[in-house]
Amino acid sequence: MDVEGRRFIEHPPLGGYKTTLNVIPRIVDFVAKCNACGHMKEIERHKLEEVASGQWLPEISRRLRCYACGKKDSKLLTGYYASE
Ligand SMILES: [Zn+2]
Repeated sequence: MDVEGRRFIEHPPLGGYKTTLNVIPRIVDFVAKCNACGHMKEIERHKLEEVASGQWLPEISRRLRCYACGKKDSKLLTGYYASE
């Protein structure tokens, strides 16, 4: 998956996406993927923590709005960037 020119490799949290933000290791990167248009955007962890610390990831996903098409149909993915 390509996010702003970098290769992102999805790696779901241990036990799946039904988990809360605060138990995910700090080295993990977050990307929002729009289900409607496929646009992907990196989301900085501190921004998620400001508004959604302690919340379930599916709950956070429902609140994300796509920057490209404006739809509220995104999934918050966890993973890391491949070193080229
Ligand atoms: Zn979109």
